[in-house]
Amino acid sequence: MNLSTPNREKYHSYLKSYEWHQKKCEWIASGRPAFCFACEKAMPYVNAKGFNFHHRTYENLYHEKLDDLIPLCSEHHQELEIEFRVIRNHNVDLKTWTYVFISMVRFKKGLTAINKSKISIVMGDFNE
Ligand SMILES: [Zn+2]
Ligand SMILES: [Zn+2]
Repeated sequence: MNLSTPNREKYHSYLKSYEWHQKKCEWIASGRPAFCFACEKAMPYVNAKGFNFHHRTYENLYHEKLDDLIPLCSEHHQELEIEFRVIRNHNVDLKTWTYVFISMVRFKKGLTAINKSKISIVMGDFNE
């Protein structure tokens, strides 16, 4: 999805909507890990300032499945999106880039690799 074209306004109001807030509540209720998938900084409550839900795919935009989303701190979310704007010209899709980006940050921080960590529950579909 290209966020610079018509749906931009709709998208931005969606991110402030009750439905979007409900997604976060759903995430917590599901027992999925509530921390930044890159650095594991804890998300203490759903509306924690600086906590974002990143779309791994826009396939189901406005009707996302929980597995389409992952929590990221604002620092890593911003980094991921900025670097994706550069790398997307090389035929890398967002889901792949999300996986690669998170793997790199985790490696640099000495955190457990994705496939051996709690986040593998969500990220494990990558090799499908
Ligand atoms: Zn982070
Ligand atoms: Zn994002």
